[in-house]
Amino acid sequence: MKFGTKVIHAGISPDPSTGAVMTPIYQTSTYAQAAPGKHKGYEYARTQNPTRSVLEKNLAALEEGHFGICFSSGMAAMDSIMKLLNPGDEIISTNDLYGGSYRLMTRIYEKFGVKSHFVHMSDIEEVRARINSRTKLLWIETPTNPMLNIIDIEKTCGLARQHGILTCVDNTFASPYLQTPLTLGADMVLHSATKYLGGHSDVVHGAIVVNDEKLAEQLYFIQNAAGAVPGPQDCFLVLRGIKTLHLRVERACQNAARIAQFLKEHPKVSKVYYPGFPTHPGHEVAQQQMRHFGAMVSFDLVEDQYAAAEKILINTHLFTLAESLGGVESLIGHPASMTHASIPKAERMKVGLTDSLIRLSVGIEDADDLIADLEKALE
Ligand SMILES: *Cc1c(COP(=O)(O)O)cnc(C)c1O
Repeated sequence: MKFGTKVIHAGISPDPSTGAVMTPIYQTSTYAQAAPGKHKGYEYARTQNPTRSVLEKNLAALEEGHFGICFSSGMAAMDSIMKLLNPGDEIISTNDLYGGSYRLMTRIYEKFGVKSHFVHMSDIEEVRARINSRTKLLWIETPTNPMLNIIDIEKTCGLARQHGILTCVDNTFASPYLQTPLTLGADMVLHSATKYLGGHSDVVHGAIVVNDEKLAEQLYFIQNAAGAVPGPQDCFLVLRGIKTLHLRVERACQNAARIAQFLKEHPKVSKVYYPGFPTHPGHEVAQQQMRHFGAMVSFDLVEDQYAAAEKILINTHLFTLAESLGGVESLIGHPASMTHASIPKAERMKVGLTDSLIRLSVGIEDADDLIADLEKALE
């Protein structure tokens, strides 16, 4: 099945009890048993829920994996992966990581004895130099947030494999329509389904997809034991969002390409971070591992002060000033004070995450209107 068919059909069939074409929301916490232990595969809704099961199958298919495991948020999914580790284990990740992921690694798991190192992961030699016998997990995010750096998934996962290190790719920014890390050698793929998968900014949800059965068993165990599961209504909303994933992401990427070009030519803009430009250091790798270059664009201003950025942030009308990304509507954000406020300023400045950096999540509106909106705000 091709991608555009999978989003509609993979793992989904009319409901066996009624023939309902759309997956019902099984709003129940428990299931009747005919005799003790004799049931239809469902005992208690933390452990199994039919709406969730359908979504898990669908997500597995989209990511070219065998097992999907759903959680109440992207962070809950990541937390479950962190629980695979033991005190003394170490993680290597990228130094412009999503702020919430950085916070979970440093503020929660460090006190349990799991140490995280942050390097410029686009340079595989920096990763290699950090590997030691305690390294147990490589946490990859590509494109990165908000600097839109590209990490070579195949090469980095290949290096990890040589050392018996698990790999996870946070695929939230790309979505499975643009890239499928499992096919490039990753052990796990993580999604904040809150973003492109849900796609309508109306649900918080997370997921992991893996191929290995043992790893899946461990993660299902953690899902049930720790219990950060999504409700059936949220699973329904993600299933519904996914049905148009390919159309939405296709259009958003087209819009982003036009907006990136517009910003590049604007005299008040000093720098545009967008992997679609041939001058972007990750352009070639992006071209190899992604279908398009994504719909996130970051830019910096000639006048590199927070005040200059604020003028733009409060003067767009179609771009809403808000956290998050991946919805049908366009959003504008200020990473230094919003998504990345939990990263110390010195760390931020090292990677170019200045006080005047602005991040756009380009939606699926008409590109002419979006450009006009930015043009006015830049004036
Ligand atoms: C939003 C986000 C997360 C966290 O997901 P939640 O659903 O908000 O918990 C993780 N990684 C990336 C790249 C994100 O954008």
